[in-house]
Amino acid sequence: TAAEAGLPPAKPKSGEPMSDLVARILAESSSEAPAADTKPAYVPGSKRCCWTKSDPNGDPIDDIVNDLVSQALGDKKPCSVCPHSDSTDGVAVSDDEATTLGDGVFATMDEAIAAAELAQRQYLFCTMAARKQFIDGIREVILSNGTLERISHMAAEETGMGNPAHKIIKNRLACEKTPGIEDLTTAAVSGDDGLTLVEYSPFGVVGAITPTTNPTETIICNSIGMLAAGNSAVFSVHPRATKVSLLTIKLINRKLATLGAPANLVVTVQTPSIDNTNAMMAHPKVRMLVATGGPGIVRTVMSTGKKAIGAGAGNPPVVVDETADIEKAARDIVNGCSFDNNLPCIAEKEVIAVNQIADFLISEMQKCGAYLIKDPAVVKQLEGVVINEKGGPKTSCVGKSAAHLLGLIGITVGDDVKVILTEADKDHVFVREELMMPVLPVVRAPSVDDAIDLAVELENGNRHTAMMHSTNVRKLTKMAKLIQTTIFVKNGPSYAGLAVGGEGYATFTIAGPTGEGLTSPKSFARKRKCVMVEALNVR
Ligand code: NAD
Repeated sequence: TAAEAGLPPAKPKSGEPMSDLVARILAESSSEAPAADTKPAYVPGSKRCCWTKSDPNGDPIDDIVNDLVSQALGDKKPCSVCPHSDSTDGVAVSDDEATTLGDGVFATMDEAIAAAELAQRQYLFCTMAARKQFIDGIREVILSNGTLERISHMAAEETGMGNPAHKIIKNRLACEKTPGIEDLTTAAVSGDDGLTLVEYSPFGVVGAITPTTNPTETIICNSIGMLAAGNSAVFSVHPRATKVSLLTIKLINRKLATLGAPANLVVTVQTPSIDNTNAMMAHPKVRMLVATGGPGIVRTVMSTGKKAIGAGAGNPPVVVDETADIEKAARDIVNGCSFDNNLPCIAEKEVIAVNQIADFLISEMQKCGAYLIKDPAVVKQLEGVVINEKGGPKTSCVGKSAAHLLGLIGITVGDDVKVILTEADKDHVFVREELMMPVLPVVRAPSVDDAIDLAVELENGNRHTAMMHSTNVRKLTKMAKLIQTTIFVKNGPSYAGLAVGGEGYATFTIAGPTGEGLTSPKSFARKRKCVMVEALNVR
């Protein structure tokens, strides 16, 4: 009975005992599901989808029976009403369809936000098991049917940046290592005054702004995290990554539809633009903003007056001291710096080497695919090609390979060259600017303490990422304490901090400026307290 199951008393619809009702529904469920053309139309969030729980206007008995049935069947029962299914059939979006309206893509930001708001209200009444299934569906749709390869190649082609093979690794990482609902741990306090629960509760509609450097990775990671926390997500994507971003959003929507999720949990507009991003930020129905991008957009979301998460630029230094395993450090630095042509905000951007080992480190890096430019005139020539008139990186050079960049100054090399190395003064533009291309300056320091001080200076208060190669635990600890970065990788490549060859979970929204650090579902949730006075304390 419901009482035995610890459930609140329910009103049987027809005086039928609960045990009979369960038996009847179990029997019904084992018979064949209705043919597609006789299937009742599913209206997301309406009574009755197998995922919907506790509809305040609904009949409580429906919830209880559905819960019992789904427990009995190990959550495997196909629903006869909603189109929930485990298959990926029907989840395909052609290149031509990618930017058409529908499947979460709207003509205006107002329409997109209205749809996301409705979806989120319906989502409030879905079970946690359903949330988990939807999130697993997002992971699955990207990981299956060659989608990983497709979006990775498309992102590189559309943006003209990065390395498709490395983007496959990043997209897989976003799918597999972004935390889900398990991140939302509940705290309970009980005592003479009763029982208090502190739970992670959704904000509502979250506005997410995504970068051109990790366009699909950020959409996957943010969708999983924001939906795990019970929100819907409105994406404002980078205009230079429109097609691949909209394709990713459509694939997610189609998969969620097959799982019976409320429609439009993940939405965007057909034509991304600064005006649309501004409209999203100003919209009263958007309760939280999450900006993953450069300093301009991070400053903008922080000044909206709304709850904002800013995941901004970095300039990650890597320190190598005289106690390090230099061969390994050289290999790790070249691999980390060249990963996706240096696009990741966490990638090694400048090396600070203790004088004693600097020559050895440079020669070891050359063995691993670094091309050293010694002639100051050639360094100047490279600077003229990759730096724009404002003193920042030229957009056309961002995310390009070392071979491509060297080609621009008339040097032809093979694909075995991964990084362009120069020795530089600490104030050189290559050292101070976040270039996001595999041009790696090496700055010498007289001692490890000087190297750490310089690393702190060059990180520039971003609180983003830093690396150190050393076997001196005291110096590793000193740098970790002083540099205050969200990610600090010791004796490994930067991507170990993203959980590629390093422990922990992955995120593509690393929020240094606003302090959330490594974002996860709980970053997109509010802590709320439910207090039961003078009861439910059984101690
Ligand atoms: P960007 O700042 O040019 O663009 C980011 C997003 O903001 C885009 O969607 C863009 O359309 C939007 N945007 C930018 N300026 C805007 C404005 N004035 N009004 C409205 N919208 C605006 O950055 P990008 O080149 O796409 O990405 C690279 C930058 O992002 C680098 O600085 C990198 O370090 C940073 N980044 C940080 C993280 C992190 O987790 N901290 C992750 C990825 C990238």
